[in-house]
Amino acid sequence: MIIVVLGGPGTGKGTRSKVLSEALSIPHISTGELLRKVAQTNPDVQEMLDNNELVSDDMISEHLYDRLFYEDCLGGFIIDGYPRTLNQAILLDNMLKKLDRQIDFVFELSVPDEIVIRRIVGRQECKSCGKIYGTAFPSKVENVCDDCGGELLTRSTDTREKTLERIVQHNENIGPIRSYYDSQRLLEIIDATTAPETIIEDLKHLSISKLICER
Ligand code: ADP
Repeated sequence: MIIVVLGGPGTGKGTRSKVLSEALSIPHISTGELLRKVAQTNPDVQEMLDNNELVSDDMISEHLYDRLFYEDCLGGFIIDGYPRTLNQAILLDNMLKKLDRQIDFVFELSVPDEIVIRRIVGRQECKSCGKIYGTAFPSKVENVCDDCGGELLTRSTDTREKTLERIVQHNENIGPIRSYYDSQRLLEIIDATTAPETIIEDLKHLSISKLICER
């Protein structure tokens, strides 16, 4: 089962992908996370992330392609944060063709811009396990993760100004990607203003729900 999760910043791609990943027992691959790891040893990439710039299609595609060879991807995977350009969508199809695999579903998470801004400004992420906290759902102890005790950090890009920049960039890029998957009848739009767990309920009408129930 190969699933692509699309959505702008703050639509909850990471959280909903994790819920799905657990329900289906397949890994969740976030290209943002892959790049944050690369950035630890590559200051140029760090600068691009700090400036909200998309890294080159070739660079991110190479990292993603390498990740698809890990053993845990054999039974399928969920890709979050890729494709972000139409070219990346085509590159992904080429990668999967080489592996003799194909996308089963594309979910686009839909959330109004004002809600996105409210979610992102003030958001914190656990440095160890990646759990996300927000002003509406803060950690019990300030700056400490409820689940693993890790330190909570605020991304330097989570300001109002930078969030607006990201929303504009996303809206420019998503149109052609949406049409690309819609024409292949892969696209499902999901209301992501509700609690993350509702994604399981949202997918009830799809053949995927059978897989969730069987596990
Ligand atoms: P967000 O969805 O809030 O932008 P992500 O964790 O998905 O957060 O991505 C963080 C940053 O990593 C992006 O702003 C972008 O700079 C870079 N990035 C992630 N995925 C891609 C991609 N597919 N192509 C190019 N750059 C990417």
